[in-house]
Amino acid sequence: MKEYKMYIGGRWEDAASGEVITTLNPSTGEPVCRAPSAGPADADRAVRAARATFPAWSGLPQAERNKALFRIAALIREHAHEMALLEGLEHGTPYRDAFGVCMGAAEKFEWSANAASGLMGEQIPVPGERLSYVKREPVGVVGFIIPWNLPTIMTAVKLAPALAVGNTCVLKPPSINSAIGLHFAEVLSKAEGLPPGAVNVITGSGAGVGAALAAHPGVDMIGFTGSSETGKSILASAAPTVKKCVMELGGNNPVLVFADADIDAALKVLAWRQFNNSGQHCSGPGRYYVHEAVYDEFVEKFVLYAKTVKVGDPEDEATTMGPLVSREHQSKVAGYIESALKEGARLAFGGEVSEKGFFIAPTVLADCRHDMQAARDEIFGPVAVIIKYKEGDDIVSLANDSRYGLCAHVWTRDISRGLKLVDRLHVGAVFVNCQMLSNEQPWGTSVKESGIGKEGGLYGMAEFTDQKLVCVHYGE
Ligand code: NAD
Repeated sequence: MKEYKMYIGGRWEDAASGEVITTLNPSTGEPVCRAPSAGPADADRAVRAARATFPAWSGLPQAERNKALFRIAALIREHAHEMALLEGLEHGTPYRDAFGVCMGAAEKFEWSANAASGLMGEQIPVPGERLSYVKREPVGVVGFIIPWNLPTIMTAVKLAPALAVGNTCVLKPPSINSAIGLHFAEVLSKAEGLPPGAVNVITGSGAGVGAALAAHPGVDMIGFTGSSETGKSILASAAPTVKKCVMELGGNNPVLVFADADIDAALKVLAWRQFNNSGQHCSGPGRYYVHEAVYDEFVEKFVLYAKTVKVGDPEDEATTMGPLVSREHQSKVAGYIESALKEGARLAFGGEVSEKGFFIAPTVLADCRHDMQAARDEIFGPVAVIIKYKEGDDIVSLANDSRYGLCAHVWTRDISRGLKLVDRLHVGAVFVNCQMLSNEQPWGTSVKESGIGKEGGLYGMAEFTDQKLVCVHYGE
């Protein structure tokens, strides 16, 4: 079992307390690694290191920062095989997907390096002999707290744009994926041109080191992805020092399937999304409202798709779906299946829950209702919750009837209807007959309990800058 250390100020460090956490392989339940269990003193060391490096890193010409980011990208590509194996071992991602994720992580650094110069200031018209403009500056030290779903890409999505525009960072990976976070740090530490302290990675529990990071007065901004409940607690920790917070939180994304939808095309996207990464995708489908005219076909074809999913060992090239990330999450998802069946849902496929490892079979629940627990909450697993609706039912109100507002999926051949729904759905993103496509697209929302601010694209990169107003009187 590998013993990891944390990456603070360019050095490999144990927790001040000497305490460690052990992570598990979700396919077997066996231990993977031991990592430091950091506490407030370690968060403090990491924040001090990031702050000490901030003047040098933010003061570099953009081109120099870009070179370091391109080197990180090259190192990720070089180490992608071992990174993908580790993502399978500690997170359960099938190798092929995990390798693709690593390539995506490298792209985030390349994209951010290319895009950073595109974030311009702006001249403001003012009367008289005065010049006024808005200058963008890095926010400072950014504390990142990330969730366990897709830990490698999540690390890249956070670090790349923040570094590109001159911030220094302290990142806390999810404790159950500590090896993935610390191995990322090992790869990144080899990048020439990235000064020690520009990126610090500390591991430990959310309540221990996560809360300490969120509350630390030396942190200027928090970038968080995780559940809405934890998000609220982080906002409370960050409030006394009024930190900027970008929060990517929970969702229960409605899918509206109309009678004229291309069902095969829809399922190619939706069913794939439902089972890829064992359904642990924030942007994935949460509950399906399917028109009665195509309902039977939709359920039948969903089941056919589910039957093609190869559940198994992530290292096996044939595997398309691995386990869920933890026993705790497996029990939570299983509980939703159980409650839906008790409330009258029909098990069209799947439902098996493994004892060895944390697997749940691809599951299709038909004949669900909007008021069932499984349709109200975020399941975050390989479980499709399908609801039939009749012509004339107000499914837009049902879609909007949620404490979340992350995104919605619409499938119809009538583009005019699709665009009208874009106006009526109270969510941060609407996908009409497709899904998210590129690095340029911003993600995240400030709708209801699904978050605050944007991530990705130029909108997301802009969050890592402060806009300083300048006004100069140059007349007599
Ligand atoms: P989580 O909220 O349990 O944990 C997220 C991170 O917060 C972890 O690193 C954890 O250690 C830390 N944490 C926990 N308590 C803390 C505290 N009191 N103070 C500071 N940090 C604390 O989330 P999770 O279960 O790891 O991830 C799944 C959730 O993430 C789902 O709700 C999902 O929707 C959400 N998510 C959202 C997006 C998005 O873009 N909106 C993307 C991915 C995941």
